[in-house]
Amino acid sequence: MTANPVPFFRPSIGEEEIAAVTECLRSGWLTTGPKAHAFEEAFAAYIGGGVTAIAVNSATAALHLGLEALGIGPGDEVIVPTLTFTATAEVVRYLGATPVFVDVEAESLCIDLALTEAAISERTRVIMPVHFAGRMCDMTGLRALADRHGLRILDDAAHALPASHQGVSVGLAGADVTSFSFYANKTMTTGEGGMLVTRDADLAARVRVMRLHGIDRDVFNRFSDPRAGWVYDVVAPGFKYNLTDIAAAMGLVQLRRADDFVALRAGRVARYDAAFADLPVLLPPKAAEGDTHSHHLYILRLTEAAPVSRDDFILALKAEGIGTSVHYRPLHQMTFWKDYCGNKTFPVADAIFDTCVSLPLFMDMHDAEQERVIAVVRQVLGG
Ligand SMILES: *Cc1c(COP(=O)(O)O)cnc(C)c1O
Repeated sequence: MTANPVPFFRPSIGEEEIAAVTECLRSGWLTTGPKAHAFEEAFAAYIGGGVTAIAVNSATAALHLGLEALGIGPGDEVIVPTLTFTATAEVVRYLGATPVFVDVEAESLCIDLALTEAAISERTRVIMPVHFAGRMCDMTGLRALADRHGLRILDDAAHALPASHQGVSVGLAGADVTSFSFYANKTMTTGEGGMLVTRDADLAARVRVMRLHGIDRDVFNRFSDPRAGWVYDVVAPGFKYNLTDIAAAMGLVQLRRADDFVALRAGRVARYDAAFADLPVLLPPKAAEGDTHSHHLYILRLTEAAPVSRDDFILALKAEGIGTSVHYRPLHQMTFWKDYCGNKTFPVADAIFDTCVSLPLFMDMHDAEQERVIAVVRQVLGG
């Protein structure tokens, strides 16, 4: 064991979260009920703009429900960046549709708009941008592109709470449907959980039905109306994607802390940026002018001048007890997804993958922990 290890991530769970979960456990109501309902209301108010928020048990579920409600099925194509987590693409296959992978921009790590437009065919129905590391994609450009071709947008905002584009919150910034994640190491957490946000009443109605077994009435009605427990109809083979009240109780507290969380991460990012400015690295992409960043991940890219390879850099940090991660091995390099790529190449994502490393960044990081990461990174990179 090394002295003073620094984990890649540690969730920020305080006494308030513990009290909220304990209260829920003592209440006798564990599954979807009043807490999940309150969480949806609070989340919708936080995003603003009159959105509907629908709580689910993962972002993957939200992505699946979003695409299903958009009517995606066999024969349809959905455009996905290759630099993302596999969940973004796998939901396309859940519905029997075909993901079409597109390379990203080196400057933003977000999907390349020109390549997106070039990838559109007569079968294309949806574009799924990922606000990479919490940096918003050019949603103005993407919306215009989607409108030119009659396409819908489902944005994967798993990294991006809170963030905004041109003064407008993620969830309102040009997408038809938005998916958020509350997985343990995301910007706020419910252990496992997710939220789907939309302003489209028809999409919201379909998502509500499909979230709970295709039952024709809202889950909350079912738990509050005494007759609804047995007087209901099933109108589709739906899914089992509802969020527990235990998780929602935690989410209500975490959501109240979301603005403090992003401020804490922004402070750590500024400290890292200043400490690494003279090293042979590319610093993480900044938000575009007029946008805000959630600072979910701090990703360095080693340049050719770096004295070590990315892999050796990770091993050197590991030897010092410092946790890191890699976001991501691009999907076109994965055994399963290769078959969907033909002979297309993705040189930008390949180059990012070869050189990128994500450093520890979390709300409860101590100054001493960050100073230790900085000292080790500088030592390994010859700073
Ligand atoms: C975490 C993540 C997901 C999946 O979130 P879950 O809540 O674990 O389902 C999807 N896309 C991206 C980009 C992610 O980082």
